[in-house]
Amino acid sequence: MPIQAADNESQATYKQIDDVRLYINGEFVNAKSGAMFENVNPFTNEVNNLVAEGRQEDMNKAVAAAKEAFEHGPWGKMKVEERMKQINRIADLIDEEIEEIAFLESLDTGLPISQTRKMTARAAENFRFYARMVQTKLHGESYLVNDEFINYTVYKPLGVVGLITPWNAPFMLETWKVAPALATGNTVILKPAELSPLTANKLAEVIDKAGLPKGVFNVVHGFGETAGDALVSHPDVKAISFTGETTTGSIIIKNSADTLKKTSMELGGKSPLIVFDDADLDRALDAAVWGIFSFNGERCTANSRVFLQKNIKDQFVEALKERVANIKVGDPMDPLTQLGPLIEKEHFNKVKQYIEIAKEEGCEVVQGMVPDEVKVGNFVPPTLLLNAKNSMKVCQEEIFGPVMAVIEFETEEEVVAMANDVRYGLAGYVWTNDIKRGHRVAQAVEAGMLWINAQNVRDLRIPFGGTKDSGIGREGGHYAIFEFYTEPKVIHVAIGEHHIPQFGKKK
Ligand code: NAD
Repeated sequence: MPIQAADNESQATYKQIDDVRLYINGEFVNAKSGAMFENVNPFTNEVNNLVAEGRQEDMNKAVAAAKEAFEHGPWGKMKVEERMKQINRIADLIDEEIEEIAFLESLDTGLPISQTRKMTARAAENFRFYARMVQTKLHGESYLVNDEFINYTVYKPLGVVGLITPWNAPFMLETWKVAPALATGNTVILKPAELSPLTANKLAEVIDKAGLPKGVFNVVHGFGETAGDALVSHPDVKAISFTGETTTGSIIIKNSADTLKKTSMELGGKSPLIVFDDADLDRALDAAVWGIFSFNGERCTANSRVFLQKNIKDQFVEALKERVANIKVGDPMDPLTQLGPLIEKEHFNKVKQYIEIAKEEGCEVVQGMVPDEVKVGNFVPPTLLLNAKNSMKVCQEEIFGPVMAVIEFETEEEVVAMANDVRYGLAGYVWTNDIKRGHRVAQAVEAGMLWINAQNVRDLRIPFGGTKDSGIGREGGHYAIFEFYTEPKVIHVAIGEHHIPQFGKKK
């Protein structure tokens, strides 16, 4: 299928997008059933390509390959330096292909190319980071006990791990799981979101090229209820790392219970951004706008609820309106585009529906413009829901689009109570120049990650994850390698003649 794309200089080029197959045991293969599903372009609503639809039998084949690779292949026996060389090679190959990967990601998701380029660079860094982390930090402890024993710990990979990922930042989120899983010596089955299959296969190509032993990394495309569930319920899969909706996370926990799997859950959010009247309002404005309208608003840590202190509210709202009117909406391949189309028609309809609900609930809705020439795409203009109340449906449910609810507050106590009056607890942002208040509020907001006077920037060494209905467990930093992708094993060694009870021995 010919696809029009714009390169760096915005000159049109044409590309053929290949159909996507499964990657099992080092080979690109069709699904056993031969079934394929369509992958639709969110900008044109035309079919980009077809995707092999993996089902139970394909998942069984992938798990068998990963199990064989873990138990009998060279991956686990390889020297750590050698394994990390391969992990670093993956990072180098991603860097070499950054333009192609960013292009495919934008084509698949509608995310603006200027943003997918950065996400791809970050994805390469995920591999380098975990190669360094495993080499320098993945070590156990040792205790000398009364000169009678040495107790020591070693961290062992789990075996076959299943990684299930969403469509909102697919390549970045996939590598965020694949890198620590592989670096710690596990073998992997990746089940990417059905709406964004292209870059997952690019990752398979890159890993294939990096020369990892067959069966170490596998990709099975398909739908959640079939392919995803087959992974979740497979007895040979030791753990599931999941990122996606809260309701899906809950289903996965239930369905993994029979096979007693370890699970990690990165789920939805409805994060507050609080602006006090003493804040640097210009910077707070930049952060508030970026935090909801970047990644097309399809961002788990988006500041979808913005709380403004009463005496700065009107001026801040005026500035928000001006920004929203000027956000550049358009072709995701245009390097100047700031907001692209939403992933699919169904999600587009859902977001539009929430905007209607906001009107019914009494919000004033202010929107930017979608140029006529792109209206065939799933575009929702940047949207402000003014005069919102925290109890409204649009302030309680995750909309996952370019929609910011603006809520007024007067006191610190009141805003903390409202910020916490929600089922989610992923992220939060506090803007104030009162250092004591900044810390106080950040500590009081119920969320896994808080930023004071900062937009959502984070160091890879820091834990990532949410509390309440936003998740269980943490990814990132040493949390991923110590608390999820490995298990400690304790070895007790007697070095002296300690007492052993002598049951049954004649005196
Ligand atoms: P989703 O839950 O619909 O799907 C995510 C993945 O789960 C897909 O691969 C899907 O096929 C699979 N899946 C669906 N049902 C399944 C089942 N029964 N068994 C196994 N797998 C199943 O989520 P989405 O719509 O792709 O992504 C958007 C959501 O992800 C939002 O809620 C967003 O907040 C969340 N998210 C969270 C984070 C985080 O780190 N907390 C990051 C990004 C996205």
